[in-house]
Amino acid sequence: MAHQVTLIPGDGIGPELAEATRRVLDASGVAFDWEVQDAGEAVMARYGTPLPEHVLESIRRNKVAIKGPITTPVGTGFRSVNVTLRQTLGLYANLRPARSIQGLETRYENVDLVIVRENTEDLYAGIEHRVGPDAAESIKIITRAASERIARFAFEYAVANGRRKVTAVHKANIMKLSDGLFLESCATVAKDYESRIEFEDRIVDNMCMQLVQKPELYDVMVLPNLYGDIVSDLCAGLVGGLGVAPGANIGVDGAVFEPVHGSAPKYAGQNKANPTAMILSGVLMLRHLGEQAAAERVEDATRAVIADGTTVTYDLGGSAGTSEFADGIIDRLG
Ligand code: NAD
Repeated sequence: MAHQVTLIPGDGIGPELAEATRRVLDASGVAFDWEVQDAGEAVMARYGTPLPEHVLESIRRNKVAIKGPITTPVGTGFRSVNVTLRQTLGLYANLRPARSIQGLETRYENVDLVIVRENTEDLYAGIEHRVGPDAAESIKIITRAASERIARFAFEYAVANGRRKVTAVHKANIMKLSDGLFLESCATVAKDYESRIEFEDRIVDNMCMQLVQKPELYDVMVLPNLYGDIVSDLCAGLVGGLGVAPGANIGVDGAVFEPVHGSAPKYAGQNKANPTAMILSGVLMLRHLGEQAAAERVEDATRAVIADGTTVTYDLGGSAGTSEFADGIIDRLG
Protein backbone atom coordinates (compact mmCIF):
# COMPACT_ATOMS: atom_id res chain seq x y z
CA MET A 1 0.00 0.00 0.00
CA ALA A 2 1.25 3.49 -0.86
CA HIS A 3 2.32 5.80 1.97
CA GLN A 4 0.14 8.89 2.04
CA VAL A 5 2.47 11.86 2.65
CA THR A 6 1.89 15.63 2.69
CA LEU A 7 4.47 17.38 0.48
CA ILE A 8 4.98 21.11 1.09
CA PRO A 9 7.29 22.51 -1.61
CA GLY A 10 7.83 25.80 0.27
CA ASP A 11 9.39 29.06 -0.94
CA GLY A 12 12.49 30.12 -2.88
CA ILE A 13 14.56 27.05 -3.82
CA GLY A 14 11.98 24.84 -2.04
CA PRO A 15 9.92 23.76 -5.10
CA GLU A 16 13.03 22.64 -7.07
CA LEU A 17 14.37 20.70 -4.10
CA ALA A 18 10.95 19.17 -3.39
CA GLU A 19 10.67 18.01 -7.01
CA ALA A 20 14.17 16.47 -6.91
CA THR A 21 13.39 14.76 -3.60
CA ARG A 22 10.03 13.43 -4.78
CA ARG A 23 11.64 11.93 -7.90
CA VAL A 24 14.40 10.25 -5.85
CA LEU A 25 11.94 8.86 -3.28
CA ASP A 26 9.65 7.57 -6.04
CA ALA A 27 12.67 5.82 -7.58
CA SER A 28 13.45 4.06 -4.27
CA GLY A 29 10.84 1.39 -4.96
CA VAL A 30 8.57 2.57 -2.14
CA ALA A 31 5.09 3.66 -3.24
CA PHE A 32 4.00 7.16 -2.22
CA ASP A 33 0.73 8.95 -2.62
CA TRP A 34 1.82 12.61 -2.43
CA GLU A 35 -0.63 15.22 -1.22
CA VAL A 36 0.94 18.49 -2.36
CA GLN A 37 0.06 21.47 -0.16
CA ASP A 38 1.25 25.03 -0.57
CA ALA A 39 2.37 27.08 2.41
CA GLY A 40 4.52 30.17 2.76
CA GLU A 41 4.72 33.40 0.75
CA ALA A 42 2.72 32.06 -2.20
CA VAL A 43 -0.46 31.56 -0.18
CA MET A 44 -0.27 34.63 2.08
CA ALA A 45 -2.29 36.85 -0.24
CA ARG A 46 -4.99 34.23 -0.81
CA TYR A 47 -5.50 32.98 2.75
CA GLY A 48 -4.11 35.82 4.88
CA THR A 49 -1.73 33.37 6.55
CA PRO A 50 1.37 31.48 5.35
CA LEU A 51 0.03 28.29 6.97
CA PRO A 52 -3.66 27.79 6.12
CA GLU A 53 -5.70 25.43 8.26
CA HIS A 54 -6.19 22.92 5.41
CA VAL A 55 -2.40 22.36 5.29
CA LEU A 56 -2.37 21.53 9.01
CA GLU A 57 -5.39 19.28 8.43
CA SER A 58 -3.53 17.40 5.70
CA ILE A 59 -0.58 16.74 8.02
CA ARG A 60 -2.89 15.70 10.86
CA ARG A 61 -4.63 13.26 8.51
CA ASN A 62 -1.49 11.78 6.92
CA LYS A 63 0.67 12.04 10.07
CA VAL A 64 3.77 12.43 7.89
CA ALA A 65 4.95 15.45 5.91
CA ILE A 66 8.08 16.54 4.09
CA LYS A 67 8.59 20.23 3.48
CA GLY A 68 10.92 22.59 1.71
CA PRO A 69 12.13 25.76 3.42
CA ILE A 70 9.68 28.58 3.97
CA THR A 71 10.55 32.27 3.97
CA THR A 72 9.71 33.90 7.28
CA PRO A 73 8.13 37.25 6.40
CA VAL A 74 9.87 39.99 8.33
CA GLY A 75 7.78 42.61 10.08
CA THR A 76 4.30 41.30 9.18
CA GLY A 77 3.50 40.04 12.65
CA PHE A 78 3.13 36.44 11.43
CA ARG A 79 4.89 33.84 13.47
CA SER A 80 7.37 31.58 11.72
CA VAL A 81 5.59 28.74 9.91
CA ASN A 82 8.12 26.33 11.35
CA VAL A 83 7.49 27.35 14.95
CA THR A 84 3.72 27.26 14.37
CA LEU A 85 3.94 23.76 12.86
CA ARG A 86 5.97 22.46 15.79
CA GLN A 87 3.68 23.95 18.40
CA THR A 88 0.35 23.23 16.71
CA LEU A 89 1.21 19.62 15.90
CA GLY A 90 3.10 18.95 19.15
CA LEU A 91 6.31 18.00 17.33
CA TYR A 92 8.35 17.83 20.51
CA ALA A 93 11.58 16.26 19.19
CA ASN A 94 13.93 17.79 16.66
CA LEU A 95 16.28 15.17 15.26
CA ARG A 96 19.42 16.31 13.44
CA PRO A 97 21.96 13.67 12.42
CA ALA A 98 25.41 14.90 11.36
CA ARG A 99 27.51 12.29 9.60
CA SER A 100 30.62 12.86 7.48
CA ILE A 101 30.20 12.40 3.74
CA GLN A 102 33.12 11.11 1.70
CA GLY A 103 34.11 13.64 -0.95
CA LEU A 104 33.19 16.68 1.14
CA GLU A 105 36.19 18.49 2.46
CA THR A 106 35.77 19.13 6.18
CA ARG A 107 38.00 19.21 9.25
CA TYR A 108 37.25 15.63 10.30
CA GLU A 109 36.55 12.46 8.33
CA ASN A 110 34.58 10.32 10.74
CA VAL A 111 31.99 12.51 12.42
CA ASP A 112 28.83 10.59 13.32
CA LEU A 113 26.68 12.62 15.71
CA VAL A 114 22.95 12.78 16.40
CA ILE A 115 21.38 15.84 18.01
CA VAL A 116 18.06 15.38 19.81
CA ARG A 117 16.67 18.82 20.65
CA GLU A 118 13.64 19.53 22.83
CA ASN A 119 11.34 21.52 20.56
CA THR A 120 8.56 22.98 22.71
CA GLU A 121 9.83 24.90 25.72
CA ASP A 122 12.92 26.59 27.23
CA LEU A 123 13.54 30.23 26.21
CA TYR A 124 11.81 29.48 22.88
CA ALA A 125 8.41 29.24 24.56
CA GLY A 126 8.27 32.91 23.55
CA ILE A 127 7.21 34.25 26.93
CA GLU A 128 8.91 37.62 27.14
CA HIS A 129 8.00 41.17 28.02
CA ARG A 130 9.43 44.60 28.50
CA VAL A 131 10.02 45.72 32.03
CA GLY A 132 9.75 49.47 31.62
CA PRO A 133 11.48 51.22 28.71
CA ASP A 134 15.01 49.94 29.30
CA ALA A 135 14.77 46.29 30.26
CA ALA A 136 13.25 43.10 28.90
CA GLU A 137 12.68 39.68 30.39
CA SER A 138 12.44 36.27 28.70
CA ILE A 139 11.22 33.33 30.69
CA LYS A 140 12.93 29.96 30.48
CA ILE A 141 10.44 27.15 30.97
CA ILE A 142 11.73 23.66 31.75
CA THR A 143 9.33 20.93 32.90
CA ARG A 144 10.00 17.42 34.12
CA ALA A 145 7.39 16.03 31.71
CA ALA A 146 8.96 17.57 28.57
CA SER A 147 12.51 16.82 29.72
CA GLU A 148 11.79 13.16 30.49
CA ARG A 149 9.89 12.84 27.20
CA ILE A 150 12.82 14.14 25.12
CA ALA A 151 15.33 12.07 27.11
CA ARG A 152 13.25 8.94 26.47
CA PHE A 153 13.12 9.83 22.76
CA ALA A 154 16.95 10.09 22.72
CA PHE A 155 17.44 6.74 24.48
CA GLU A 156 14.83 4.99 22.32
CA TYR A 157 16.55 6.41 19.23
CA ALA A 158 19.89 5.13 20.55
CA VAL A 159 18.51 1.63 21.13
CA ALA A 160 16.69 1.46 17.78
CA ASN A 161 19.71 2.68 15.83
CA GLY A 162 22.47 0.70 17.54
CA ARG A 163 24.11 3.71 19.18
CA ARG A 164 26.24 3.38 22.31
CA LYS A 165 25.92 6.58 24.35
CA VAL A 166 23.63 9.51 25.19
CA THR A 167 25.16 12.78 26.45
CA ALA A 168 22.87 15.31 28.17
CA VAL A 169 24.01 18.88 27.50
CA HIS A 170 23.11 21.66 29.96
CA LYS A 171 24.28 24.63 32.01
CA ALA A 172 23.13 23.32 35.38
CA ASN A 173 26.16 24.77 37.15
CA ILE A 174 24.66 28.25 36.63
CA MET A 175 20.94 27.62 35.99
CA LYS A 176 20.66 25.20 38.85
CA LEU A 177 16.87 24.99 38.91
CA SER A 178 15.89 24.96 35.22
CA ASP A 179 18.84 23.16 33.62
CA GLY A 180 19.20 21.25 36.89
CA LEU A 181 15.71 19.82 36.34
CA PHE A 182 16.55 18.97 32.71
CA LEU A 183 19.68 17.09 33.79
CA GLU A 184 17.89 15.34 36.67
CA SER A 185 15.13 14.23 34.26
CA CYS A 186 17.68 12.83 31.78
CA ALA A 187 19.47 10.97 34.56
CA THR A 188 16.17 9.47 35.76
CA VAL A 189 15.32 8.18 32.28
CA ALA A 190 18.91 6.94 31.77
CA LYS A 191 18.42 4.41 34.61
CA ASP A 192 15.87 2.52 32.48
CA TYR A 193 18.54 2.00 29.80
CA GLU A 194 21.51 1.43 32.14
CA SER A 195 22.46 -1.99 30.84
CA ARG A 196 22.22 -0.99 27.17
CA ILE A 197 23.18 2.67 26.66
CA GLU A 198 25.91 4.64 28.41
CA PHE A 199 24.90 8.02 29.88
CA GLU A 200 26.99 11.09 30.65
CA ASP A 201 26.50 14.84 30.80
CA ARG A 202 28.46 17.89 29.67
CA ILE A 203 28.19 21.61 30.31
CA VAL A 204 27.24 23.29 27.03
CA ASP A 205 30.26 25.58 26.65
CA ASN A 206 32.68 22.73 27.26
CA MET A 207 30.61 20.60 24.87
CA CYS A 208 31.05 23.13 22.06
CA MET A 209 34.80 23.19 22.52
CA GLN A 210 35.02 19.39 22.65
CA LEU A 211 32.86 18.97 19.54
CA VAL A 212 35.21 21.24 17.62
CA GLN A 213 38.31 19.44 18.92
CA LYS A 214 37.23 15.81 19.42
CA PRO A 215 33.86 15.10 17.78
CA GLU A 216 34.64 11.37 17.72
CA LEU A 217 34.09 11.22 21.50
CA TYR A 218 30.34 11.84 21.13
CA ASP A 219 27.37 9.92 19.82
CA VAL A 220 23.73 10.90 20.60
CA MET A 221 23.25 14.23 22.42
CA VAL A 222 20.08 15.45 24.10
CA LEU A 223 19.61 19.18 24.70
CA PRO A 224 17.03 21.77 25.75
CA ASN A 225 15.68 23.92 22.92
CA LEU A 226 18.12 26.86 22.78
CA TYR A 227 21.37 24.90 23.16
CA GLY A 228 19.98 22.31 20.74
CA ASP A 229 19.40 24.96 18.09
CA ILE A 230 22.95 26.26 18.35
CA VAL A 231 24.85 22.99 18.83
CA SER A 232 23.01 21.32 15.94
CA ASP A 233 24.27 24.01 13.55
CA LEU A 234 27.78 23.54 14.93
CA CYS A 235 27.48 19.83 14.14
CA ALA A 236 26.13 20.58 10.63
CA GLY A 237 29.23 22.71 10.10
CA LEU A 238 31.46 19.78 11.07
CA VAL A 239 30.12 17.65 8.19
CA GLY A 240 29.80 20.14 5.32
CA GLY A 241 27.22 22.76 6.26
CA LEU A 242 23.66 23.66 5.37
CA GLY A 243 23.46 22.09 1.92
CA VAL A 244 23.80 18.59 3.38
CA ALA A 245 22.08 18.86 6.80
CA PRO A 246 18.76 16.96 7.15
CA GLY A 247 16.25 17.32 9.96
CA ALA A 248 13.05 15.91 11.40
CA ASN A 249 10.44 17.20 13.82
CA ILE A 250 8.68 14.32 15.49
CA GLY A 251 5.67 14.21 17.81
CA VAL A 252 3.24 11.68 19.18
CA ASP A 253 0.75 12.12 16.33
CA GLY A 254 2.88 13.22 13.42
CA ALA A 255 6.27 14.01 11.94
CA VAL A 256 7.54 16.72 9.60
CA PHE A 257 10.82 16.18 7.74
CA GLU A 258 12.75 19.17 6.37
CA PRO A 259 16.20 20.39 5.40
CA VAL A 260 17.87 22.66 7.92
CA HIS A 261 18.65 25.43 5.43
CA GLY A 262 16.41 28.33 4.40
CA SER A 263 14.76 29.31 1.12
CA ALA A 264 17.92 30.94 -0.38
CA PRO A 265 15.83 33.37 -2.49
CA LYS A 266 18.80 34.48 -4.61
CA TYR A 267 19.00 30.98 -6.17
CA ALA A 268 15.25 30.44 -6.58
CA GLY A 269 14.17 29.06 -9.97
CA GLN A 270 17.75 28.64 -11.23
CA ASN A 271 18.13 24.86 -10.86
CA LYS A 272 21.28 25.57 -8.83
CA ALA A 273 20.61 24.63 -5.21
CA ASN A 274 21.88 21.44 -3.61
CA PRO A 275 19.04 18.95 -2.97
CA THR A 276 21.07 16.74 -0.58
CA ALA A 277 19.66 18.12 2.70
CA MET A 278 16.07 17.58 1.57
CA ILE A 279 16.81 14.14 0.05
CA LEU A 280 18.52 13.05 3.31
CA SER A 281 15.45 14.40 5.18
CA GLY A 282 13.53 12.02 2.90
CA VAL A 283 15.84 9.23 4.10
CA LEU A 284 14.87 10.06 7.70
CA MET A 285 11.24 9.91 6.58
CA LEU A 286 11.72 6.49 4.95
CA ARG A 287 13.16 5.20 8.25
CA HIS A 288 10.24 6.71 10.18
CA LEU A 289 7.86 4.89 7.81
CA GLY A 290 9.65 1.60 8.50
CA GLU A 291 11.20 1.47 5.00
CA GLN A 292 14.72 0.71 6.25
CA ALA A 293 16.04 -0.99 3.10
CA ALA A 294 14.92 1.85 0.82
CA ALA A 295 16.39 4.39 3.28
CA GLU A 296 19.80 2.67 3.10
CA ARG A 297 19.68 2.55 -0.69
CA VAL A 298 18.81 6.24 -1.11
CA GLU A 299 21.40 7.32 1.46
CA ASP A 300 24.11 5.14 -0.13
CA ALA A 301 23.26 6.41 -3.63
CA THR A 302 23.35 10.05 -2.47
CA ARG A 303 26.69 9.54 -0.76
CA ALA A 304 28.08 7.76 -3.81
CA VAL A 305 27.11 10.65 -6.11
CA ILE A 306 28.82 13.13 -3.77
CA ALA A 307 31.95 10.94 -3.46
CA ASP A 308 32.10 10.61 -7.25
CA GLY A 309 31.75 14.39 -7.65
CA THR A 310 30.75 14.55 -11.33
CA THR A 311 27.06 15.46 -10.94
CA VAL A 312 27.11 17.68 -7.85
CA THR A 313 26.00 21.30 -7.44
CA TYR A 314 28.19 24.43 -7.27
CA ASP A 315 28.44 24.42 -3.47
CA LEU A 316 30.10 20.97 -3.59
CA GLY A 317 32.53 22.09 -6.28
CA GLY A 318 30.55 20.83 -9.27
CA SER A 319 28.52 22.43 -12.05
CA ALA A 320 25.44 20.18 -12.16
CA GLY A 321 21.97 21.56 -11.57
CA THR A 322 19.54 20.44 -8.88
CA SER A 323 17.74 18.11 -11.29
CA GLU A 324 20.96 16.56 -12.70
CA PHE A 325 22.10 15.88 -9.14
CA ALA A 326 18.82 14.04 -8.55
CA ASP A 327 19.19 12.18 -11.89
CA GLY A 328 22.63 10.99 -10.76
CA ILE A 329 21.12 9.54 -7.59
CA ILE A 330 18.24 7.94 -9.49
CA ASP A 331 20.71 6.32 -11.94
CA ARG A 332 22.54 4.74 -9.02
CA LEU A 333 19.32 3.45 -7.52
CA GLY A 334 18.97 1.46 -10.75
P1 NAD B 1 19.50 30.24 3.81
O1 NAD B 1 19.72 28.88 4.37
O2 NAD B 1 18.38 30.40 2.85
O3 NAD B 1 20.83 30.70 3.05
C1 NAD B 1 22.11 30.78 3.70
C2 NAD B 1 23.23 30.57 2.65
O4 NAD B 1 23.30 29.19 2.27
C3 NAD B 1 22.97 31.34 1.35
O5 NAD B 1 24.23 31.72 0.81
C4 NAD B 1 22.31 30.31 0.47
O6 NAD B 1 22.44 30.59 -0.89
C5 NAD B 1 23.03 29.03 0.88
N1 NAD B 1 22.20 27.83 0.74
C6 NAD B 1 21.14 27.48 1.54
N2 NAD B 1 20.62 26.33 1.13
C7 NAD B 1 21.33 25.94 0.07
C8 NAD B 1 21.26 24.80 -0.79
N3 NAD B 1 20.35 23.82 -0.64
N4 NAD B 1 22.14 24.70 -1.82
C9 NAD B 1 23.06 25.64 -2.00
N5 NAD B 1 23.21 26.74 -1.22
C10 NAD B 1 22.34 26.88 -0.20
O7 NAD B 1 19.38 31.25 5.02
P2 NAD B 1 18.86 32.77 5.08
O8 NAD B 1 19.38 33.53 3.89
O9 NAD B 1 19.22 33.22 6.45
O10 NAD B 1 17.27 32.69 5.01
C11 NAD B 1 16.49 32.88 3.84
C12 NAD B 1 15.02 32.68 4.21
O11 NAD B 1 14.80 31.32 4.62
C13 NAD B 1 14.53 33.56 5.37
O12 NAD B 1 13.24 34.04 5.07
C14 NAD B 1 14.48 32.62 6.55
O13 NAD B 1 13.51 33.00 7.50
C15 NAD B 1 14.09 31.31 5.88
N6 NAD B 1 14.48 30.09 6.63
C16 NAD B 1 13.60 29.06 6.60
C17 NAD B 1 13.91 27.87 7.22
C18 NAD B 1 12.91 26.75 7.17
O14 NAD B 1 11.89 26.86 6.50
N7 NAD B 1 13.15 25.64 7.85
C19 NAD B 1 15.15 27.71 7.86
C20 NAD B 1 16.05 28.78 7.84
C21 NAD B 1 15.71 29.97 7.20
